Amino acid sequence: MNVSLLDLKPQMSALREEVIRAVTGVIESTQYILGPEVDRFEEAVAAYCGAPYAVGVSSGTDALLVSLMALGIGPGDLVLTTPYTFFATVGSILRVGALPVFADIEPDGMNIDSERMADLLAGDRRHGGRLKAIMPVHLFGQCADMQRIMELAGEYEVPVIEDAAQAIGSDCPFVDGDHVSWKRAGSMGIAGCFSFFPSKNLGGIGDGGMVVTGDREFAERLRSLRNHGAQPKYHHARIGGNFRLDPIQACVLNIKLSHLEEWHEARRRNSDLYRRLFVAAGLAGDPVGLPPALYKDVPGSAINNYHIYNQFVIRVPERDRLRDFLKENNIDSEVYYPLCLHQQECLRTYGFAGLSYPVAEQAASEALALPIYPELRPEQQEYIVATIAGFFKG
Ligand SMILES: *Cc1c(COP(=O)(O)O)cnc(C)c1O
Repeated sequence: MNVSLLDLKPQMSALREEVIRAVTGVIESTQYILGPEVDRFEEAVAAYCGAPYAVGVSSGTDALLVSLMALGIGPGDLVLTTPYTFFATVGSILRVGALPVFADIEPDGMNIDSERMADLLAGDRRHGGRLKAIMPVHLFGQCADMQRIMELAGEYEVPVIEDAAQAIGSDCPFVDGDHVSWKRAGSMGIAGCFSFFPSKNLGGIGDGGMVVTGDREFAERLRSLRNHGAQPKYHHARIGGNFRLDPIQACVLNIKLSHLEEWHEARRRNSDLYRRLFVAAGLAGDPVGLPPALYKDVPGSAINNYHIYNQFVIRVPERDRLRDFLKENNIDSEVYYPLCLHQQECLRTYGFAGLSYPVAEQAASEALALPIYPELRPEQQEYIVATIAGFFKG
């Protein structure tokens, strides 16, 4: 049996006619920059995320970049983030001329550790307060500890840019005694940044991104910045760039958004089956660390849209050997991420090399993403878990 990490073909063949009709519509309309498809998609994403405004941009990376630009973050400023994420998070901080400050991650969810953040914010305050934004990442589809992060952001009056590139539609609990309220990824900070890279749960047929916000004035600034800072046309009060979402992507994403909940649901089903199979094989916990379904006690709540499983990431100390063994058995897997950001070559001159983030470094040596896409079949998952069991039997 062959199992790929992600197979987009079943999704595209189910939507093929509709997609071709919509793309043809855009081609024939000759509206090739922004326009009604982009407007419609922005409204739909705003509603889906529970945020008043949404601004379509060219990629998830540009969503982060333009959000930092709109906050006026630049040289001399620091941005607090995680060392264990995709490069774009830290790349965007460096591209505006600011510097990242890393807080190590939690061992379970592998998201940024809010107590480490609290220490760093307190330390920064004592040294004059150069931290100008917090950029948590909702890694693999599960929100960071946003309740505590939003509290800290309020206490230190620092804006939050959520890197929600992997987490569209994931919900985050805010617990107050017995009362729980849920907020959607992207809707908590001043900016929520999404990516429509094809491998995300909502993926286009190319690159695309979105920033959602609850702040009307911030949304206006984003709209101007994605179009060279023009407001009105050919009058540039600020320097922006070309960060516009393509209408061809928007028309495809409009179609796909209406299926997104089904796809999340299928990924959750696949995650449940993995858990049952790992338990039945006697592997759960040790030697195979499973991703936490809920990593926070939520009183009286059985709600299950906490995680959208963009990735299903297990932890195994012999990760590289297991990955080779899976490959020999025609099973694709992936390492997100083999290096932490402070270990990247292009950051060497920034003085991070001497720093150590032991929890993140351990995650980088143990994490392995297994196939979890919606159309994955139960017999494929059985084969994957049986192969992993075979590996540990030797
Ligand atoms: C995918 C991703 C991005 C970048 O999105 P692109 O659309 O590929 O530019 C940023 N941050 C994280 C955490 C991501 O997973």
